[in-house]
Amino acid sequence: MPDTPPFWKTKTLGEMTRAEWESLCDGCGRCCLHKLRDEDTNEVVFTNVACRLLNIPSCRCADYENRRKWVPDCVKLTPAKLKKIDWLPPTCAYRLLAEGKDLMWWHPLVSGDPETVHKAGVSVRGRAIRERDAGPLEDHTVRWPGQVPRRAAGAPPERRTVDAARPPRHEQPVPAAKEGR
Ligand code: SF4
Ligand code: SF4
Repeated sequence: MPDTPPFWKTKTLGEMTRAEWESLCDGCGRCCLHKLRDEDTNEVVFTNVACRLLNIPSCRCADYENRRKWVPDCVKLTPAKLKKIDWLPPTCAYRLLAEGKDLMWWHPLVSGDPETVHKAGVSVRGRAIRERDAGPLEDHTVRWPGQVPRRAAGAPPERRTVDAARPPRHEQPVPAAKEGR
């Protein structure tokens, strides 16, 4: 019997249950980095400074349910808001699905392992700094949250290992010519 396709391939973002919607978050923490908007160009620039509520080692919000009590400008993502927001990173599951793309191999829903988002170099673990240590945000602008890490793009590492172990095309055995012509 064929496998049932996962919910993110069969439902629109608006059709998902709350639990499905929440499970789309890969736990990368990139959206919890402070961002600056250039007043002249309207361009958004990431910093490596984490929101005060982000637990940097786990990349999780320290009080997700009550977060707006501590950080009133924390944005609650909804399908409608996704159409207007221009600062989600290119790896964000909500952005990917809103753009008609699929989740990548390291997404915990695909890999079944919450650590793969870190192993693929997508999360902010080890790269973000605390708000109280940072000083002026302008001193901390970075590009990486707006990029897809090389490790995260393409096939998962185990498939790359298999491909690498395969001899290059010109070294592959040449099939024997058919006989009996
Ligand atoms: S960028 Fe997207 S996937 Fe990553 S933590 Fe934020 S909402 Fe979740
Ligand atoms: S309040 Fe929580 S979810 Fe919102 S930006 Fe801060 S760490 Fe992220």
